[in-house]
Amino acid sequence: MVKFLGVIFLLVVLTFPALAGEGILYLNSGELKQGELLVLKVETTEHAPTGTFRGVNLHFIPWEMGWVAFFGISYWTQPGDYQLKIHLGEKEITRTIVVLDGDFSESHLTVSEEQEKLIRPSEEDKEIIERRGRDQKAVQNAYSNPITMPLWEEDFILPTTGWRTTGFGHTRYVNNELNNRHSGIDIANEAGTPIKSVNQGKVKLAEDLLVTGKTIIIDHGGRIFSSYSHLSKIEVVVGDMVERGQKIGEMGSTGFSTGPHLHWVIRTPEAFLDPDQFVGNDIFSLLDIPE
Ligand SMILES: [Zn+2]
Repeated sequence: MVKFLGVIFLLVVLTFPALAGEGILYLNSGELKQGELLVLKVETTEHAPTGTFRGVNLHFIPWEMGWVAFFGISYWTQPGDYQLKIHLGEKEITRTIVVLDGDFSESHLTVSEEQEKLIRPSEEDKEIIERRGRDQKAVQNAYSNPITMPLWEEDFILPTTGWRTTGFGHTRYVNNELNNRHSGIDIANEAGTPIKSVNQGKVKLAEDLLVTGKTIIIDHGGRIFSSYSHLSKIEVVVGDMVERGQKIGEMGSTGFSTGPHLHWVIRTPEAFLDPDQFVGNDIFSLLDIPE
């Protein structure tokens, strides 16, 4: 889709270093859209740096003569200038990162009262509220204690074939009330279409949830996760190590869904990200140091 070309373009933006004493900071870009991944590397022989972006801690992992951190820019982060602060021993490196509007479009959805209850339960729907609470805990648990080191060795792939129905970040109104932004990409096709893991990883959740139906969450390491919802069939269990391209289930319409489709998410623990920026791109290649 044409609207995603801008996102893909991000991934070819040159790295640009900022000299700072014995540490050199590389960023994938100084301007990022809502839903994009900030990638940074500190080249140093010293011990691990620490740092914050918008006051939130960065998590550095050792990588090729230095340290790398990934940080997801939320689609709720207001466009504007934000401070990136890196501490290397006594030294502090600061940079301004510009967050740009993701320019998300809107969609309107009309559903039956029964389906609406699933997403907007009234007070008497205690059972639904309890079930949603349990589901949320299970999902939070899946995203806690992320695997530190990246498990992937190649670029990310698309999880299935079909046609796109709802893009990332679309602001969704259900029966004319603001429901949410769309946390992933919807790909529709016939029920039973194979769903594949977008990269190597470890299964952290594989169960039937009320709203997202049969759902799989995979931890790819490096604080990058993918999830796959509304499946008709789950073919993995929690703890499984999966390969890039391995079939993990089949497309369906379980949970809050109006027809067979995959709801596909890529995220860090802090934010949902536009999945398209990962496809066909090795995110470490962004950090190749210029000669
Ligand atoms: Zn969706």
